[in-house]
Amino acid sequence: HAKARGPSQTAVFTSSMYERMLRRTVLEDELRAALNQHLLSVHYQPIVDVRTGEIASLEALARWFHPELGEVPPDTFIPVAEDAGLIIELDRQILKQACLQVRFWNAQVRPRAPVHLNVNISAVHFAHTTFAGAVMHLLEDTGFPPSLLRFEITERLLLDRSPVAQANLDALHQLGIQFHIDDFGTGYSSLSYLQEFTASTLKIDRSFIRGIDQTSRSAEMVRIILAMAKNLNMLVVAEGVQTQQQWAWLSREGCDQAQGHYFSPPAPVDTVTGLLQERFRTAHADSG
Ligand code: C2E
Ligand code: MG
Ligand code: MG
Ligand code: MG
Repeated sequence: HAKARGPSQTAVFTSSMYERMLRRTVLEDELRAALNQHLLSVHYQPIVDVRTGEIASLEALARWFHPELGEVPPDTFIPVAEDAGLIIELDRQILKQACLQVRFWNAQVRPRAPVHLNVNISAVHFAHTTFAGAVMHLLEDTGFPPSLLRFEITERLLLDRSPVAQANLDALHQLGIQFHIDDFGTGYSSLSYLQEFTASTLKIDRSFIRGIDQTSRSAEMVRIILAMAKNLNMLVVAEGVQTQQQWAWLSREGCDQAQGHYFSPPAPVDTVTGLLQERFRTAHADSG
């Protein structure tokens, strides 16, 4: 009972709820303003072929630096964007920036070995009838080849697919865009969607990778996911690889690709240009 708690506790409870609401409203307004002014930027994290060490793809990750709040992490502003109806605009701005940037890198730095681009798309986005059409338009605008584009989606999307979401998935798939299942293993325990949906790649969540060199349970889980993916003709990316030991273990177990601080954290454009030049030189030295 509120009465039994006394007035001071009630006041504290109320004011903290109020503060949370206020903070959320402020974030929402500030995010809307930032999107209107196109102030969000993109960092890129390499996804690396475990056998060759080559950069196979770059994952685009949204960054928001606010003059007073500082760097606001995506885990804070993405849910705000989803609730406030801003996620469609946000995803599109990131997608467009990333398509232009990776097209430039492929033309200038990697003409013979183009890198792929991975972009995160919110499940909310797929519920909109205009989604597939907008992506086609954006690809024409930017000249980015759909065969190099992958959308990272979560298990949640595949479990409660509406007819609209399914139509979007089909249309984009037909364009040649691949789908990668992000944070695999953390969403739902049901694997049934893998029977009907053609995703090309599973990205094993970093919570599994963290423990592979310490606990045998994590290692066993990752082995099972690798075996299952192989049987389903899917590729596997390990997320959150932080140590040489984890990299070596994944290489021994036949994991295809890896991403994580061990190779490189998400980085701004100039840093990634350097990484791409480095890897490209290495590839030529090796093959010639
Ligand atoms: P995600 O797609 O699973 O991205 C991977 C996250 O793991 C990134 O966090 C990355 O910085 C982090 N990470 C990568 N390697 C390591 C590692 O070795 N150790 C650790 N501890 N972390 C690592 P980030 O950039 O904070 O993004 C968080 C999430 O926000 C993303 O998770 C994604 O779900 C979402 N997100 C980011 N950008 C976008 C976007 O443009 N649109 C949408 N819809 N979601 C986005
Ligand atoms: Mg992702
Ligand atoms: Mg992930
Ligand atoms: Mg995630």
